[in-house]
Amino acid sequence: MLSTEFNPISTTPVRSPVFTDRGLTVHVLRLDRLHPIVSGNKWFKLTGYLAQARSKNLTRIVTFGGPYSNHLVATAFACSRQGLASTGIVRGTEPSVLSHSLRTALGHGMQLVFQERRQFDGRTLPATLRQEAGSCLVIPQGGYGLLGARGAEAILAGCPDPAVSHIVCAVGTGTTLAGLIRAARPGQQVLGISVFKNNSGLEALVGALLPEGDGTPDWQICHDYPFRGYGRPTAELIAFMNRWYLETGLPTDFVYTARLFFAAEDLAKRGFFAPGSHLLLIHTGGLQGNDSLPAGTLVF
Ligand SMILES: *Cc1c(COP(=O)(O)O)cnc(C)c1O
Repeated sequence: MLSTEFNPISTTPVRSPVFTDRGLTVHVLRLDRLHPIVSGNKWFKLTGYLAQARSKNLTRIVTFGGPYSNHLVATAFACSRQGLASTGIVRGTEPSVLSHSLRTALGHGMQLVFQERRQFDGRTLPATLRQEAGSCLVIPQGGYGLLGARGAEAILAGCPDPAVSHIVCAVGTGTTLAGLIRAARPGQQVLGISVFKNNSGLEALVGALLPEGDGTPDWQICHDYPFRGYGRPTAELIAFMNRWYLETGLPTDFVYTARLFFAAEDLAKRGFFAPGSHLLLIHTGGLQGNDSLPAGTLVF
């Protein structure tokens, strides 16, 4: 069983003056340390889908992602360990040189099918694979869906500290954020930092994964930190990643977690968090994505 390979979830305190001078206690939940390949939130989002494939006796998982997708890597690895076949539908034309992520996915036995951007919707089985539909479980891009969000609820089981007032994470599809909101205690605030530019539909996508009615903890999504948009680090972001690592010892990836920690610092400076707040920042992993940066860009 895969789960015995995982390291226990730990937290790391961040004692930087930006936080301590403002009366803030900050801990980082280290999902990046879970596993060298299936790091971070991706494993949690997959658990429910894998269980469903098993219970329905399906033999292949089909899912979707861009050429740098952490989700494809995690799915390929998890399927190989569980004896399931996997197919990754990749957005765009097949490049002459595959990205590190796609090579890793291939190495774990994933079949890759490239699909033109115009046809790619991240959730529909391509016509060429319809004959096999009866044996496939289709997981939407990024694991988006109720099963993904329910799997992500277990992230907070690694940090049951009731003193936490704010739970903060980076947001792509919003599945992880929805899981955190579902699992948060009454009175806790859940804050998502969106990494996409102008992603105005995100609140509705997250809302669709939450139970109806009262009692949902306070949550919101901050759209102020996309830098140049998904997947293209600015010099400012790279400088931040290096400084943050030297100050805190925490490695970050340039798509998600660098934006999360940058935003946490900036929001703290702006007085967004009341003195006495206790922040839990979720390090969702994704460090393998840095392999696409030129060597020497990062100090870690
Ligand atoms: C995929 C990913 C996210 C985004 O998760 P969603 O559930 O799609 O919002 C955040 N951080 C890292 C490191 C990721 O790889």
